[in-house]
Amino acid sequence: MIIFHRMGDGWRKNDRMGLMSMTKRPIKTFYIESLGCAKNSVDSRSMAELLDMAGYEECFQAEESDLIIVNTCGFIQPAKEESLQVLRDYAQEKRPGQYLVAAGCLGEREKQQLAAQVEGLDAALGTRRWSEIVAVVEKLRQPGDSPYFYFPPTKQIIESGEPIVRAALEGSSAYLKIADGCDRGCAFCAIPLIKGPMFSRPIPEILADAQALAEAGAKEVILIAQDTTTYGRDLGMKDGLAALLGELAVTVPEIPWVRVMYTFPGMHAEPLIELMAADNNILPYLDIPLQHAHPDVLKRMQRPSDMKWVRDTLGKFRQAIPEVALRTTFIVGFPGETEAEFQELLDFTAEMRFDHVGIFPYYHEADTPAFALEDTIPQEVKDERIQRLAALQEEISHANNEAWIGRELDVLIEGTGDGISVGRSFRDAPEIDGLVLLDEVLTEGELTRVRVTGALTHDLMAERK
Ligand code: SF4
Repeated sequence: MIIFHRMGDGWRKNDRMGLMSMTKRPIKTFYIESLGCAKNSVDSRSMAELLDMAGYEECFQAEESDLIIVNTCGFIQPAKEESLQVLRDYAQEKRPGQYLVAAGCLGEREKQQLAAQVEGLDAALGTRRWSEIVAVVEKLRQPGDSPYFYFPPTKQIIESGEPIVRAALEGSSAYLKIADGCDRGCAFCAIPLIKGPMFSRPIPEILADAQALAEAGAKEVILIAQDTTTYGRDLGMKDGLAALLGELAVTVPEIPWVRVMYTFPGMHAEPLIELMAADNNILPYLDIPLQHAHPDVLKRMQRPSDMKWVRDTLGKFRQAIPEVALRTTFIVGFPGETEAEFQELLDFTAEMRFDHVGIFPYYHEADTPAFALEDTIPQEVKDERIQRLAALQEEISHANNEAWIGRELDVLIEGTGDGISVGRSFRDAPEIDGLVLLDEVLTEGELTRVRVTGALTHDLMAERK
């Protein structure tokens, strides 16, 4: 993972030794483990940059570091349990003089309760205060009560005033955060209570980050936020996402792929359709988490429930861009979901023929609006419905993939070995969608033209043109 800062007017990769020699602080080492989503990964890289600028050195082995930071996830019960387990494991294994800090969403949600749950924790700070990690580490070095909890009241996430790039670059792909927080009130979702209200980063800052990523060799920039389609509203912008994408197409044409994640139903779709259809670097890939297809369930979820809008809008995307890749996510087993309501979700899935569908069971999360409802669907019914929906979608994904046999695609090579290469096309976001497999060893980071020769359920096989 590359660490790089904005420097004055220009940008350059960090000369870490140079920066360290400019500081007078004793060198300390840190290790960050990032759990949860790509938004957390961005915050982890930003904390690493801040610590690096303050003279601390990043280690890539936890046992070798003076300080272990776990950037936790606290969105749903399994994520909370995983975060707690990781913290407990580190707490048990840490050696004398080694510090353990919990950052991120679990800390924001559980606050001081964490001390009781993780014996040996030295400090915690919330996800809204990630930018103050250096102050927390400095505090740890001073004598005082332990554990140290840093949760000053703030409604909104506090961004760092330092010139850091709000991105996580892995290989040739980078997640770039354009906004954080969320103003929606989806009944099942703990994010607004963890993250607070939405705030958008100004366009010039995002463009500067994209330029830094281009200079660092990124071939793909993936724009992320809790809800990208609301980007800019708090800055007084109308169609802020389209304005940002238009500027990105002009400012960083050398980045061949710009992908948008997490759009929201009911958005003003026409500018997005135009941008995806135009000859530019905006990928024709629409990630639109719908969560359900029955209007009554959507109303209970406190989500937009106009399925005519959904059908019309997805139809417009497909009419303007026939090859557009469509991705959605669904929640199964929301309180009161009847068999008939679930059947409508199955029927809608069969009708829409999405390329990719993420399927999640409903989790009954304390403090969310849906917690007031009774969690009526037994786990075995949730599991059985998930299996039925997944089986249907697997058939659809396979058939959609088969339709690509004989056609050409650009593929970004991400890994090689044992005589094969693995990459992704515009149809696939990292980690959550499919892969393209090639029977020869190519260069990682290369964007190459291929012809599709075979189709699996989620992946394609191809040969170089
Ligand atoms: S849009 Fe809804 S589901 Fe997404 S983060 Fe906001 S409240 Fe949660």
